[in-house]
Amino acid sequence: MNVNPTKLELVDGTRLRITWSDSQVRDYAFRELRDACPCATCREKRKAPPAPSLFPIVTEAEMRPLRITAMKPVGNYAYSIEFSDGHNTGIFTLESLRELGAVVHP
Ligand SMILES: [Zn+2]
Repeated sequence: MNVNPTKLELVDGTRLRITWSDSQVRDYAFRELRDACPCATCREKRKAPPAPSLFPIVTEAEMRPLRITAMKPVGNYAYSIEFSDGHNTGIFTLESLRELGAVVHP
C-alpha cells in the first residue's frame, strides 16, 4: 500500500471523509462501514442466511442513528473503528478503505 490517509473528517455527522496522499477523496457512510466490518463475528453473520421471521426484532441500539465514536490507527496499515452501537472489534485495512466508500474527488 503506497497511499496513506492525510486527513480524516466527519461530514454532516453522517459520514467519514478520507483524503488520501494521492489526493483522492472518498466518503464513507457510517452504516456502510459498519456493514463491511471485517471482524470474525460480522463475517460469520454475513455468511449466514437471513433467518426467516415474521416479526424481526429491532433493538433500541439499532434504531438510533449510527455514528463513529472513535477511530484509531493500528500500526501503519489499518484503523480500528468504534461505532456508537458499541462494536469496536473491526480492523479496517487501508486496502479495504480504498475499496469502500464513494469517490468524491478522483
Ligand atoms: Zn464486526
